[in-house]
Amino acid sequence: MTPQETYDELMKRINEIMVLASCEGVLGWDHQVNLPPAGAAFRAKQSSLLAGMVHERFVDPKIGELLSAIEGSDLVKDADSVEAATVRELRHDYDKETKLPKELVVEFEKTTLMAHNEWAEARAKNDFKKFLPWLEKILDLSRQKAEAYGYEGEPYNALLDNYEPGATVDEVADVFEKLRVDLVVLLDKIKNAPNKPDVSIVERGYNVEKQKVFGELVAAAMGYDFNGGRLDVATHPFTTGLGPGDTRITTRYNPHRLNDALFGTIHEAGHALYEMGLDKEKYYGTVLAESASLGIHESQSRMWENMVGRSKSFWRYFFPILKGMFRDSLNGVTFDDFYAAVNNVAPSYIRVEADEVTYNLHILLRFEIERALIKGDIKAADAAAEWNSRFKKYFSIDVDSDSNGCLQDVHWSSGLFGYFPTYCLGNIYAAQFFAKAKQDIPDLDKKFESGDFLTLREWLRVNVHQEGKRYRANDLCKKITGVGLSHKPMMDYMNKKFGEIYGF
Ligand code: ZN
Repeated sequence: MTPQETYDELMKRINEIMVLASCEGVLGWDHQVNLPPAGAAFRAKQSSLLAGMVHERFVDPKIGELLSAIEGSDLVKDADSVEAATVRELRHDYDKETKLPKELVVEFEKTTLMAHNEWAEARAKNDFKKFLPWLEKILDLSRQKAEAYGYEGEPYNALLDNYEPGATVDEVADVFEKLRVDLVVLLDKIKNAPNKPDVSIVERGYNVEKQKVFGELVAAAMGYDFNGGRLDVATHPFTTGLGPGDTRITTRYNPHRLNDALFGTIHEAGHALYEMGLDKEKYYGTVLAESASLGIHESQSRMWENMVGRSKSFWRYFFPILKGMFRDSLNGVTFDDFYAAVNNVAPSYIRVEADEVTYNLHILLRFEIERALIKGDIKAADAAAEWNSRFKKYFSIDVDSDSNGCLQDVHWSSGLFGYFPTYCLGNIYAAQFFAKAKQDIPDLDKKFESGDFLTLREWLRVNVHQEGKRYRANDLCKKITGVGLSHKPMMDYMNKKFGEIYGF
């Protein structure tokens, strides 16, 4: 077979695997949106059967043989070609999937499944000690995983690489540390600032039906295509790109708070625009139909949610419409007061409720602790105390209970060590991309004011979306902005924005 024929054979197999995986995706969406509770056990059977089939097909030695036959051939000489990048990423994933011993995979799944229930109970009872043996076990298994994958430097690198391929803990930690120092200063200024937004404005009655209409209006203005998607309700909102022409988003409504569904919908629509911007029709199975990383994915959602959706120019256009729809709740509310209310900064224990500024501090704290846990610099037994002392240092607040501290997130019980940093990477990349978009489109704010959000969508499509996973995240960032990961654009953006709102 010629290298081209071998590549075609490989892609035929990968295509089938992806179609199979997308069926599991449909079941997953249905699970979270439609499934009656009594159907959960059978759904778990369906999903795990499909997941097993996907895994088996992917780790088939034949895939490895096909990859080896193409590697080194002329077909992949140009490292940035679709073929070369696709082979590079398939090799990366194939090696990772085949390196884990089956017993370890089974043990990990069993342990995290049980740990999830134990964690939920420990959180409800505010009992860290109850969760501790599970945390120890999961840490041990995670280290075993890292050893099986192999790594340079410290084991955390092998875990981070699962979510942010190519990123290294040293480079991430370096940027995060600078960011943390600057954020603590900013937060301090905000706390002592003369202006205090009146958040009660967005915490009044907001009719859910109307919230839905408004959310759809905003998503459509962003370029979310309802012909290729739908908006449903889910307890834990998410986006799923099921395949060409099918990218679904979810949200949840709070009749007493405007922000939850509104910014949640914008966030998920931002993820969805990325999925919709990948050319899945033509390039299914290749890097051009895949997102670059979780961090880059999050950069798309956070840019739309915060840099666009919480901007002055966005609300110049949308506030009169919103006011027209919620006449009672927004009666007498001025533009400036509303703008300040949706940008309120209030340090709190809970990450998922955090504002734009403190959200990153929540992530940095988790990253530092989980890195040290994996490395062995902190013992699992000390995780809660470590959490509380850092929280005090960064937020100037005493943590009142472990339920509001190290037990609040599901990630560690699910064995997702290495996942948290991608949330913050998303914010950092978002600011870098947004600064560049503003340079390229100098009248971007004017465009937002007139309701034109498609110019930005188009810029993202050309620069980010249609490149898919051709480049690793940091390389993509360099290609777009000229530099790699940097916290500066984010701090410039935040200092300016919150300085104006809070009057310092
Ligand atoms: Zn997200």
